Amino acid sequence: MNRINRLSPRLANQIAAGEVVERPASVLKELLENSLDAGARRVDVEVEQGGKKLLRVRDDGGGIHKDDLALALSRHATSKISRPEDLAAIDSLGFRGEALASIGSVSRLELSSRAAETDSETGWTVRAEGQQMETSLEPCQHGVGATVEVRDLFFNTPARKKFLKTERTEFGRIDEVLKRLALSRFDVQFNLRHNQRTVHELRPALSELDQRRRIGLVCGPAFLENSVEVDQRAAGLRLWGWISLPAFSRSQADLQYFYVNGRIVRDKIVSHAIRQAYQDVLYQGRHPAYVLFLELDPAAVDVNVHPTKHEVRFRDSRLVHDFLFRSLHRELADIKPEVPGSNQLSDQVPPETSREASERGDSEPWAQTAAQAALPLRDAAPIREAGGEYRFPTQASPASPAVTPEQYAKLFGGGEEAPPLGYALAQLHGVYILAQNRDGLIIVDMHAAHERITYERMKQALEEESLRRQNLLVPLSLAVSEAEADCAEAHRESLLALGLELERVAAESVVVRQVPALLKDGDIEQLVRDVLSDLLEFGSSDRLENRRNELLSTMACHGSVRANRRLGIDEMNALLRDMEATERSGQCNHGRPTWVWQSMDELDKLFLRGR
Ligand code: ADP
Ligand code: MG
Repeated sequence: MNRINRLSPRLANQIAAGEVVERPASVLKELLENSLDAGARRVDVEVEQGGKKLLRVRDDGGGIHKDDLALALSRHATSKISRPEDLAAIDSLGFRGEALASIGSVSRLELSSRAAETDSETGWTVRAEGQQMETSLEPCQHGVGATVEVRDLFFNTPARKKFLKTERTEFGRIDEVLKRLALSRFDVQFNLRHNQRTVHELRPALSELDQRRRIGLVCGPAFLENSVEVDQRAAGLRLWGWISLPAFSRSQADLQYFYVNGRIVRDKIVSHAIRQAYQDVLYQGRHPAYVLFLELDPAAVDVNVHPTKHEVRFRDSRLVHDFLFRSLHRELADIKPEVPGSNQLSDQVPPETSREASERGDSEPWAQTAAQAALPLRDAAPIREAGGEYRFPTQASPASPAVTPEQYAKLFGGGEEAPPLGYALAQLHGVYILAQNRDGLIIVDMHAAHERITYERMKQALEEESLRRQNLLVPLSLAVSEAEADCAEAHRESLLALGLELERVAAESVVVRQVPALLKDGDIEQLVRDVLSDLLEFGSSDRLENRRNELLSTMACHGSVRANRRLGIDEMNALLRDMEATERSGQCNHGRPTWVWQSMDELDKLFLRGR
């Protein structure tokens, strides 16, 4: 039987390094965090061979007292906390006091510094090399601040070294770490060089314009053009930053930066709340992009959850979830962008972009619908009475001239009342509405637009409990499976609340007696079948309320004007006016865009006019 012995401090450090130091990028994260904690205004990062050979971080922060240099390299030594109470409200990025010790145990590390409060003109250096820690101090030339140089990472732990990827991959991760931290501190300059080449020079970004420029460099210009600013406060919480327009979604969750009190985190509660907020407007399986900062009392969040400090624990996670969801939901509902240029700061951003940023500039097909965002949807018509029926004017005459003289005067008379989506000209292949507005051509996906309008109306009516039901003159009898009939019976009350009255009349038969008035002209049989099949799929464990909006969306889809229906000009204009008045009308319930816009300028370009 083996006896127990105490681990040497060095072995203990290597074990700790296993958690914190996974690859060069994780070393960089720790070093940058230390520089920021030291109050640096400028950080210079020098990398060789993807960080496998060299990683050097130099800063102009407060530096380290000569007598503390050796201590900085030993485990459980920190200047950031001293009393147990401090753990409850941490306001620095580091606090565990083990990063330098861990890194030093698996590399050749050199720490040089001159402290701010010293009259000495020189700096001092200490070294650690794997198992050896040299505690003797050597003088060196150093300005106020600190430099940490990490060479030959994992030179003494070959097993870990084998796990490192190619230089390119490792550098990619380093770059990502730098960008994340650069977004968390706009006031600090970050420079990054790789193999003697400059990769980033991010000057301090104090003005809003400079901040947006930094965002563009890090997230790509496409994000900048397709995002809106958020700034919301409630209950001692503040959420600010930028979120992508629904039409700019991504196939991967790779453009998502979330900071809690300046610390980047990945948190289930956070991502759930954001996903929920986008649920209505994002196509299935797509991911929103965002750069968001949550600020709250440090005592309301526990950061001591994981060695890499990527996770946090909110003391009141419910409050945080609700705040995030509500804030973003509201912002997304309000996206009815204004006059081109007025809120499109991207226009003013000089065309200085790093190569990477433009590579990252999304070429997703939907990013192309950017034109949608720039359209002036400012003076929305008053929304119709909640729960009111949605109806196209009946006496539309297809023969009416596309744009009447009065409409023409409104469009081009220079007055304020020109409607953003303009006036209908024609219907294309029974699918699209063509309209002209003051600045060009609008193309509307009729069905998608109508679906969104119906859905928003139903939601609003339901919230105000004024979802009117309509008796069917002739109840509709449907043959269904036994499981579906069971389901209809089990959810009878909840379905009734949604305006749908189903009665089971036999083992495999239900009768539809009432439908939401908004949907009475839709395809009722298909609607009921889809609702039942949705319900079966959700399973009986899931409360119907949780799926309310999904069901409404299913219903709205069937109640909406189908493609291939001929619309008169007046009907089309009515639809355009309703779109202008409806929240989130830029996308259908599935997140597809409902309309696009081609400006006269763009059309002119197509035809090489005016050159
Ligand atoms: P922690 O950051 O958790 O305190 P570290 O091992 O990362 O632990 O660093 C140990 C200590 O060394 C820090 O508490 C800090 O006092 C000092 N230190 C490290 N890097 C710097 C730096 N760039 N500038 C000033 N002090 C530093
Ligand atoms: Mg640290």
